[in-house]
Amino acid sequence: MAEHQHRTDPGAVEGDFYRVKDLLDADERKRLDAVREFLVTRVAPHANEWWEREHTPLDLREEIRALGITGEPGDTDGIAPRGHLFAGLLGMEMARVDPSFATFFGVHAGLAMGSIRECGSAEQRERWLPSMARWEKIGAFGLTEPLVGSGTALGLTTTARREGDEWVLNGEKKWIGNATFADLIVIWAKDEEDEQVKGFVVEKGTPGFSARKLEHKIALRGVQNAHIVLEDVRVPEADRLQEAHSFRDTARVLKVTRGGVAWSATGCSVGAYEAARAYTVEREQFGRPLAGFQLVQDLLARMLANITASQAMVVRMAALEERDEMSDAHAALAKMFCTSRMRETVAWAREVLGGNGILLENDVARFFADAEALYSYEGTRDMNALIVGRAATGYSAFV
Ligand code: FAD
Repeated sequence: MAEHQHRTDPGAVEGDFYRVKDLLDADERKRLDAVREFLVTRVAPHANEWWEREHTPLDLREEIRALGITGEPGDTDGIAPRGHLFAGLLGMEMARVDPSFATFFGVHAGLAMGSIRECGSAEQRERWLPSMARWEKIGAFGLTEPLVGSGTALGLTTTARREGDEWVLNGEKKWIGNATFADLIVIWAKDEEDEQVKGFVVEKGTPGFSARKLEHKIALRGVQNAHIVLEDVRVPEADRLQEAHSFRDTARVLKVTRGGVAWSATGCSVGAYEAARAYTVEREQFGRPLAGFQLVQDLLARMLANITASQAMVVRMAALEERDEMSDAHAALAKMFCTSRMRETVAWAREVLGGNGILLENDVARFFADAEALYSYEGTRDMNALIVGRAATGYSAFV
């Protein structure tokens, strides 16, 4: 190191710079620490390898279950109560280590279980949620179609036709996470009679249902996404989500999970920042660590600012959610803002690694690539901006 440069302290500023975790109570902090320990020891060492070979760690189901973090109070015995801040921080911690793992968890525990929790009858919640909270049954959420992505509110083409005590589903779904191995797949389809969107729980192995893994993804490779084909799939009326009457009900599920993506995006930024910071302290050029150059420090400071601004927004969002006052626009603004800041942050992280930033072994490349999926799923940046714009002006500008 050049003589005029003095390192004042170890400088190990972690991504949670403003210590958001301090807002949790002691019990929650302890449980979050246990999750962090699990992620660091059981997920982090394998994340790059899983990413490369498109592997989802299904064999960790028992250990995930043992953490007691799946589901909500009332889903099943043994699930400790948790608040929205704790749930958000869980997503942040998962994505901080591996956005693929966070998505695998979120599709099951958020989208699939959330659909049943929000839109199922008491009997259906009792029938499906306990085994899902125990990870004995894994869930998926099928809304997007090959020809209908952002426009699902207006134009699903998958149809549901009632025949006596059964429904007959026909259509295709694309991008459906976990669906290659899921036991229960929530399928959203348009009722041919009243043209309203309804939700159906389709069990793995139902005749006419097939799920083909999408190949050659360049983001979230640790999550398997499927192209689903439904050909005269028969579902009993008892498996139609009884409280899903129109797309408004689907949107109730998405509001919560969209807020969750804002947390994951913040975690993805934290992971990229921390990997970049560690690298710049180790790597030397011109006889001194990269971390000692002003331009590098400027990028690290900007990354921390992005993370902290995102955290401030999602912490406040969680407080509104706790009081049942979070609107669609609150969740949409957080999703839009945090994923945009994430995209900037992971690019800066990649930049300070130079060429090594595109090698998986330095972790940053994985966060950089995964950010692209988080940016687009659960409503693209544009769609979320339009939700906020509608709330701000009263004008809908979707079409
Ligand atoms: P399009 O709707 O075709 O949009 C393309 C571009 O046009 C975007 O930039 C969009 O913002 C813009 N655009 C579209 N309409 C407008 C408009 N009115 N005004 C301005 N701009 C517009 N779906 C599920 O149902 N279940 C899942 O588990 C799931 N997992 C996913 C996992 C991954 C990794 C990915 C990438 C996607 C996943 N999705 C899933 C689908 C995801 O929700 C969609 O990709 C997303 O909603 C966008 O739809 P699209 O990709 O078809 O893009």
